[in-house]
Amino acid sequence: MTAPADLLIRAAAVHTLVPGEPPRRAIAVTGGRITALSAAPDGLDALIGPGTEVVDAPTGTVLPAFDDTHTHLILAGHSVHGVPVHRARDLAGFLALIRERAARTPAGEWITTTVNWQEVLLAEQRMPTTEELDGVTTDHPVLVRRGAYNMVLNSPALRLAGIDEATESPDGGVIERDERGRLTGRLINRATEPVERVLPRPTPAERIEGLRAASADYAATGIGTVRDCLVPVEDLDVLDAARAEGALAVRVRALVSGFAARTPEQVDALLDRMDDWRSGGRDDAQLRLWGVKFGIDGGFEAGALEQPYQGQPCYHGRLLWEPEELLAAVERVVDRGWRVGVHAWGDRGLRVLLDVFEQVLRRRPGLAPGTLVVEHGGLARPEQRARAIALGIPVTVQHPLLHDGALTQQRAWGEERTAALFPLREWLDEGAQLSAGSDFPVGPYGAMVSVWGMTTRGTTAGVVGPEHAIGRAEAIALHTVNAARLTGESGERGSLRPGALADLTLWPADPLDCPTAALRELLPTRTIVNGRTVHGG
Ligand SMILES: [Zn+2]
Repeated sequence: MTAPADLLIRAAAVHTLVPGEPPRRAIAVTGGRITALSAAPDGLDALIGPGTEVVDAPTGTVLPAFDDTHTHLILAGHSVHGVPVHRARDLAGFLALIRERAARTPAGEWITTTVNWQEVLLAEQRMPTTEELDGVTTDHPVLVRRGAYNMVLNSPALRLAGIDEATESPDGGVIERDERGRLTGRLINRATEPVERVLPRPTPAERIEGLRAASADYAATGIGTVRDCLVPVEDLDVLDAARAEGALAVRVRALVSGFAARTPEQVDALLDRMDDWRSGGRDDAQLRLWGVKFGIDGGFEAGALEQPYQGQPCYHGRLLWEPEELLAAVERVVDRGWRVGVHAWGDRGLRVLLDVFEQVLRRRPGLAPGTLVVEHGGLARPEQRARAIALGIPVTVQHPLLHDGALTQQRAWGEERTAALFPLREWLDEGAQLSAGSDFPVGPYGAMVSVWGMTTRGTTAGVVGPEHAIGRAEAIALHTVNAARLTGESGERGSLRPGALADLTLWPADPLDCPTAALRELLPTRTIVNGRTVHGG
C-alpha cells in the first residue's frame, strides 16, 4: 500500500517533457518529490488520503517550473521596494512617482528607484537630469538607477557622493557633462562607485525582506529556480540567512561576481571564501554555489565587435580583459574545482573568449563537461557557433534582453547586427547546448514572456530576425530540461518523472498551443517548488 499523496493535480494535460512521452492527466507529489503520474484524470485517486490537497484543473496544463538561467535576484532584492519608475511611460510620469515617494519620506532619507527600465522606452527617450530631479525634491538625496552601472543623481545626492564640477571621470567610468561642461547627474560604470560607498546599507532584515519579495515575484511568473549571475561574495551570507528564514520562494544557483577580481591574489581571495562555503557543507537543493562570473566585454554600447560601431568608425567596443590575464583567472578558478560563466556580447568578445576557453580545455583535457559556460554569446557568427559546439561549451541565451534593448542596440550597431543577436534557430539546428533566461533587470523575467519572445522575436523595436525564432516546445525545453543540464541537476529537475523534485507550474491554458497574444500575458495559477506552493493556490 502506497502512502497517500500530499498533493494531487488533475489537469487537461501534464507535459512531462520526458522525450517521447505523451501528456498525462494526473500527477501526485509526496514529501517534495513527484511520486506518480497517470494517463487518466482519476488514475491516481487511490493516493488520496485525509491530508491530500486535491487540485482539479480540468482545463489547466502542468509543466515543470521554469529556470531563469541568467538573472539577477540580488539586484531584484535591492530594488523591489524602490520607486517603481519601470511603470512610467514618460518623464512627467517618472518624476511624479518620485515626487509621490518624496511626499511620504522623511527629509534627508535617500530615495532610490527600481532598476528594470530603459530610457529609450520613455516618450522622451532619455534619462532625467539633475535639474529635473532637483525640481522634484532637494530635501532628499535621489538616486535614479538603471541596471547595475547607470545612475542619475539630484544635487544633494551628488554632494553626498563627493562629486562636483571639478571631479574627473575615473578610469573605466564616466561622469557625464553637458555641452557647457556642467554635470548632468549621470554616472556610468566605475563612476558609480562613490555613490555605492555613501548609500546607507540596508539592514540584514531589509535584505531578507527584499529577497522574500523579489523571489516571490519570480515565482509568480512560473520560475522555480534562478541562476543569479552576479552575487557579491559577501552576499552569500545574506542568501544563506534568507534560506534559513524560509524567505526564498525559488531555488538559487549563485555565480559569485569576479568583476572586481583583476589580480591572481584577488581571484584567490574570492575562491577562499567560496571554498569556506563548500567545506562548510552549505550547499543544499534550495541554495547552491555554482561558480564564478567574469565578463570579457561590455553590453549594448560597449560589446566588442569585429566591425566598428555604427557611425563611429574608430570604435569597436571594449574588451575588459587581456586574453592572457583572463586565461590565468579562469584556470585558477577551474583548478579549485569551480565552474566559470563568462559574459560575451559582441562577435569579437565571443571570439576572444572562445580562444581563452579553447586553451583552458587544451591544457586540461580532463575538465568536466559544463565547467566553462558562455553567458549570452549575443552576436554568434557561424564560425563561433561551430567552435562553441565542437568544444562542448554551453551557452545561456536571453531573449528578454534583446526585447528591451533592441532600440538601444540598433542605435549602436545598426539593424542588421541587432537582428543577428541570439540566433537560436541556428544554435539548436547545429547542436548547441542552450538554456534560456532573462538577464533581468535589463530584460523582463517571466516564463511565458520569454517563450513568447523566443518564438516570435518580438521586441520594443518590432520583430527582429524572425528567421532565428524557435518553436514553443523548444523554447520551453530551454527553460527546463536544458536548464537542469546546465546546473548539473538533470537527475533531479527539469522534467516530471517519479522521483524527481516536485517543481511544477499549473497554467490556465496550454502554453504549447494557446494564441500568441495570450502566451505573452500567460501567468501560472500556481507555482510549486519542492512540493510547496510558493505562488497561487
Ligand atoms: Zn547578466
